Amino acid sequence: MKKPDNTNYNHIKEKIVVFSMLIFIVMTMLIGYSYFWNIQNIKQGEFDLALQEAKANWNKDAAFRRWATGHGGVYVPPSELTPPNPALSHIPDRDVITTGGKKLTLMNPAYMMRQMTEEFEADYGIKGKITGKKQLNPINKPDSWELQALNIFESGKVTEVMEQAAIDGAPYLRYMKPMYMTQGCVKCHAVLGYKDGDLRGGVSIAIPLKPYFAAAQESNRSILTSHVIIWLIGCLAIIAFAITFGSLLARMAHDALHDGLTKLPNLTLLKDRIQHAIEKRRRQPEYLFAVCFLDLDRFKDINDSHGYHTGDHLLKQIAALFAQILRPTDTVARAGGDEFTFLINDIASTDEALEITRRLLQSLNRPFKVNQHTIYTGASVGIYMVDHSQRSAEEMIRDADIAMYRAKESGKGRIDVFNPEMHERAKKTLQIETDLREAMDKNELEIYYQPVIDIHQNSICGFEALLRWHHPTLGSIPPDRFIPIAENSGQIGKIGRWVMEKSCLQTRDWSLQFSPEKHFSLAVNLSGIQLIDPNIDVEIAGILKYSRFNPADLHIEVTETMLISHKDAAKHAIEALHEMGVSISIDDFGTGYCSLTYLQEYHFDTLKIDKSFVQDMEASGKGRQLVRTLMLLARDLRLSIVAEGVETKKQLDRLTAMNCPYVQGYYFSQPLPASAIEILLGADKHHDAQKLISLPQLNQAETELQITIKK
Ligand code: C2E
Ligand code: CA
Ligand code: CA
Repeated sequence: MKKPDNTNYNHIKEKIVVFSMLIFIVMTMLIGYSYFWNIQNIKQGEFDLALQEAKANWNKDAAFRRWATGHGGVYVPPSELTPPNPALSHIPDRDVITTGGKKLTLMNPAYMMRQMTEEFEADYGIKGKITGKKQLNPINKPDSWELQALNIFESGKVTEVMEQAAIDGAPYLRYMKPMYMTQGCVKCHAVLGYKDGDLRGGVSIAIPLKPYFAAAQESNRSILTSHVIIWLIGCLAIIAFAITFGSLLARMAHDALHDGLTKLPNLTLLKDRIQHAIEKRRRQPEYLFAVCFLDLDRFKDINDSHGYHTGDHLLKQIAALFAQILRPTDTVARAGGDEFTFLINDIASTDEALEITRRLLQSLNRPFKVNQHTIYTGASVGIYMVDHSQRSAEEMIRDADIAMYRAKESGKGRIDVFNPEMHERAKKTLQIETDLREAMDKNELEIYYQPVIDIHQNSICGFEALLRWHHPTLGSIPPDRFIPIAENSGQIGKIGRWVMEKSCLQTRDWSLQFSPEKHFSLAVNLSGIQLIDPNIDVEIAGILKYSRFNPADLHIEVTETMLISHKDAAKHAIEALHEMGVSISIDDFGTGYCSLTYLQEYHFDTLKIDKSFVQDMEASGKGRQLVRTLMLLARDLRLSIVAEGVETKKQLDRLTAMNCPYVQGYYFSQPLPASAIEILLGADKHHDAQKLISLPQLNQAETELQITIKK
């Protein structure tokens, strides 16, 4: 048997891989973005800090300079550290002598600040410098960056310039703001042509960025570590998701295409595979395959008698067995309940399909051990062999089912191959089923009555009610055809009730009119479905009461088959009917599977010998012997006997010789409509059976027709 559909799983797998990759890409992008955003932020943060420091330095520098300028410079004793400033030689009182004869030299703010910033640079690496396009001391000459800044300041629009720039190859944050001439500056700088308020230059600060970069790098490392960890966790989560979700989806896909109990493919999957076979056949017209429908026999009984649990276990065992028998290219699916559907692929002929289905049936030909029960089962199979018609997968299964139905009808454990007539018949069945729903309202149903003859009295003692359906287009449909349809379509209850009620009323009428001393008996056939209805006794009691029909005159006819399939329910109904005083007849005795033990087990009153035995009597001595044995048996069991299907005088004589008390058959009368029976009864007040025979027209094949015309 084929493994679960891999193409399906691969499809799902592919989707999950693509989906997981997408999540992976999105996650990596997000984490990467977050990493770079953080790095950028740190860089910006460090730059901002450096800028703060630059601004603070600038402010301090400017404050000192303002202070010093405000005080006109500072005089200090000249020393190695503070020699008289040659750049101030143009100032007359650069060098002064105190009254005490001490020599002092002028340190102007720039000179003073240069000394301070040089020390600051030596200690902290922070550079500070006053510069301008014209300078007293060449040491204050602007470098290229400062010159650019000075040019910008000259525009008058920008009052601050900052930038990361290299000095001697090392990274620095360079910061510069302009300085304007004040009154205090004029003393020293007028010589350069500056006036009060002029842009004199700017103070330039350079903060070494190396320590900031080092701090940023430290933060960057931890950011990188945390992001890599998050990324790895994300990857693990995606893998876990893909595995879990993948297996979950695969399981869901599997469940959607398989039967929960047997784990076999279900119909959806089977149809899919049939579709593939159809497509293959379209490409390779010589490719042959078959669709089979198998239905277990008596599975309902197994369920009813051993419980659903046992039934389920049996189905599982059978499913495993079938899966083993089939070839790897074939498929077995559970169609529901006790039905299995097969796709038999790549076969040479119908015979090969038959051979495989035979093997399937044979595999059931053994006892199954389930929960300590030993169960025997069997099956019926229908085969649809692919042909040139354009059938869909669904139609093929339907036709295999139709063939299975036909196989079942012809007896259990059979195989049938679908042919188009079956389809026609199935269609007709469906039409009959539909039309039957309206037949009663349209007065198309009619009850015919067949007289039952008391041989000793030589008179009509009762009737069997036999239903007829006059279909407007299909003509007369025999009850053998429409009763099973009524049973299968749930209409038998309604129809059966109507037959019983109408025939009880009718027979009582005839009794009152034609035989007031000894009332006619009435035999009514009861379907198995009616028999197992738990309310059947109440229903019949109601009808008897309503029609004021004497229960003792009613004979309910049941067949062996329904007793076998519904043992307990049938027993209950039969006992309940007995209690009401109704008689029970076993119909068509000897044609079914009924064992003799049934005769003892159930409380029967009458045994109806099937017409096939009566007719066999004439042909062979064996046939006569059989009827005689049946009569002895019935007598032993104290059962009354009705022989059916008596068609000739010879048969009647033989039965009379065997002391058979009651007969029915065309020899006396066919089943007739009520109006014809009335004519019969009216014609002969004594209901003399011989007179029936002497009314020749009533024994012709056209009897029913003639009576209808008379009506
Ligand atoms: P059945 O109960 O065995 O009825 C006897 C059948 O034998 C009847 O066929 C009857 O017409 C036929 N028959 C009677 N005498 C002779 C004879 O001498 N020779 C031959 N060859 N046949 C004879 P019918 O009326 O076609 O009924 C067929 C079956 O349909 C009945 O078999 C019964 O099982 C079922 N049926 C008929 N009416 C009803 C009904 O109202 N309810 C149910 N549940 N089943 C019914
Ligand atoms: Ca009958
Ligand atoms: Ca019968």
